[in-house]
Amino acid sequence: MIKKARFIISNTDHNKCPAPDKPEFAFIGRSNVGKSSLINMLTNHKDLAKTSGKPGKTQLINHFLIDDKWYMVDLPGYGFAKISKDIKSTWEKMIADYMKSRPNLVAVCILVDSRLEPQKIDLEFILWCAQSDLPFVLVFTKADKQGKTKTDANVRAFLDKMIEMFDDEPQYFVTSAEKATGREELTTFIQNEVQE
Ligand code: GDP
Repeated sequence: MIKKARFIISNTDHNKCPAPDKPEFAFIGRSNVGKSSLINMLTNHKDLAKTSGKPGKTQLINHFLIDDKWYMVDLPGYGFAKISKDIKSTWEKMIADYMKSRPNLVAVCILVDSRLEPQKIDLEFILWCAQSDLPFVLVFTKADKQGKTKTDANVRAFLDKMIEMFDDEPQYFVTSAEKATGREELTTFIQNEVQE
């Protein structure tokens, strides 16, 4: 359970992120995947992370300090439909620079919409993380939006893709911001990593 969450800083420049003196967990996924809702659910806040509404809004790296012990980082979403090549490459550079400059980054939590079959853009991003030696876990979102059978089938299909790509299944969590599903599992995972 998270007791305290505090906004620290938003920026586009990884050099201006807080000193990497605490373990850090980054949250990222396709725009509209439910990232802001998940962050608010995990931290028991109504609006710590601003729900997106408008794709393409200012793209920022947001640091939150959790329980004075670790950083939760809200990264800008990828893959909105109408995006210029320039913005796309700026995004890629910002994310790549950030991820490669944070020795305290324990895991990237990659959010995947549980309603969908495996999406190319998510698989590409995951491949990039793996090739960059960034540890990641999968967080399936919006599990309340369909029946359990459908969620399970989509999660299974995604994990099968992971086995195809890596001969292995990553650690994963099935969540719903609406029903607070998965909160305990995901925060326990993070807190265990923080204590190590
Ligand atoms: P972001 O762009 O990834 O930050 O996504 P948001 O958190 O803004 O969510 C996008 C939309 O999905 C909003 O309309 C949310 O209310 C909705 N949403 C997000 N998470 C859930 C969930 O767990 N269940 C349901 N039913 N809707 C969700």
